Amino acid sequence: MPAGGQGNLFEQEPFPKAAHRELGNTQMRKNLRHATHSIRDKRLKVVGELPDWEALRDAGSTIKNNSMATLEERLLEFEKNFTARGGVVHWARDADEANKIVTDLVRGTGATEVVKVKSMATQEIGLNEHLESEGIDAFETDLAELIVQLGHDKPSHILVPAIHKNRTEVRDIFLKEMPVVDPNLTDEPAKLAEAARAHLRKKFLAAKVAISGANFALADTGTLGVVESEGNGRMCLTLPETLITVMGIEKVLPHWEDIEVFMQLLPRSSTGERMNPYTSLWTGVTEDDGPQNVHIVLLDNGRTRALADRFGRTALNCIRCSACMNVCPVYERTGGHAYGSTYPGPIGAILSPLLTGIEVEENGSLPYASSLCGACYEACPVKINIPEILVHLRGEDVDAKREKHKLPTQMDLLMKGGSWALGKGKNIGLLEKALPLGRLAAGKDKKIKKLPGIAAGWTQSRDIPAPPNKSFRDWWSDEKESK
Ligand code: SF4
Repeated sequence: MPAGGQGNLFEQEPFPKAAHRELGNTQMRKNLRHATHSIRDKRLKVVGELPDWEALRDAGSTIKNNSMATLEERLLEFEKNFTARGGVVHWARDADEANKIVTDLVRGTGATEVVKVKSMATQEIGLNEHLESEGIDAFETDLAELIVQLGHDKPSHILVPAIHKNRTEVRDIFLKEMPVVDPNLTDEPAKLAEAARAHLRKKFLAAKVAISGANFALADTGTLGVVESEGNGRMCLTLPETLITVMGIEKVLPHWEDIEVFMQLLPRSSTGERMNPYTSLWTGVTEDDGPQNVHIVLLDNGRTRALADRFGRTALNCIRCSACMNVCPVYERTGGHAYGSTYPGPIGAILSPLLTGIEVEENGSLPYASSLCGACYEACPVKINIPEILVHLRGEDVDAKREKHKLPTQMDLLMKGGSWALGKGKNIGLLEKALPLGRLAAGKDKKIKKLPGIAAGWTQSRDIPAPPNKSFRDWWSDEKESK
């Protein structure tokens, strides 16, 4: 089995504990509810305009499945074509290797500052922190990433990393952290954008090196692509002399024509737009136009491990649109920080354990961070059956714990008891004889407020009504007799 992923992929604390704390942040919940509901409504509107939306989803899913089935071949084809056009390909087994490759490349240029295009892969490997420890400053240029970086915060959403902040909070961060800013800055979106633009413009013009992620790589042409809304990515991709892209190996698509499908699926699913404002495509180096030193770091970091999981591998089809988190009732209430990993929400609950290995204790609670309502599956543009993978990972987690502890856990005993009780009507009848004990435990107010052991989780946020004087089975047989 290939090695598990490293970096920012682990729960910082078990999800239930983190979620409990985050649920107390009413401002964050208000911000999130407002933001996710508006993106969700926009998405529904533009998706509804396409009569062939379901066919597009099928096409997206098929292309991705085919690509994953022939991944090795596709990557080698991409390497050949990208190299033939003057680009340099580097292979990184894990986060440590990728960070080292990027650091050495930046050092080789003599630069001590880099500008960055929004990238999940570099968040995943903790590149900014690593560069900082090596004396290199990385400046985020995506507006939401900039807010997170200036606020010394962590992203909480794949697409809108600062979704948990409202504009007044953003203004306060700018006033406190921007070296040069109008002290009378208001929280009007246009004024905030203007302040960010003034702050970033100098960085763009001075930077010798840019670091980006990529939304896709096209094997048959050796082309890379970045899809974005602000144009800041375009500045990074075209102005500096050196461009280093860090991309997960699962982003490769077989053919140039495949982007036709994804350019319809992605903007509609992510920002609820028919078309995204900026799409940048580059194939190696173009003489006297744009960066002249072009590198790509192809990152594994647990992806081949996830690919080896027969049930879970479709999680690698994810195009990071974030539609699943915008419709998830759990994410809407807890926010992204509760998941600990770079990847929050429903996709994070499956992707993080798949990349690191479910037996890694830090990610054991993520597959349970779902009500299994299925909204994520319905929204996913590439039809990843997230609920099915969650159930599969829960099974893996139970097996891993059983293997580790050898002795039966409380859950094992509970399940065994449930299986015995529900296996035969006679057994349920026997259990019903204990109902008076339940009434006794409920006391005068007829509510059971605390259950023991593992069952305590159930009564943590709700009471159980006292059992009725007569069970349904007794009532049914009395009814039958009286007729
Ligand atoms: S799992 Fe599907 S809906 Fe969620 S981010 Fe990935 S592609 Fe989008």
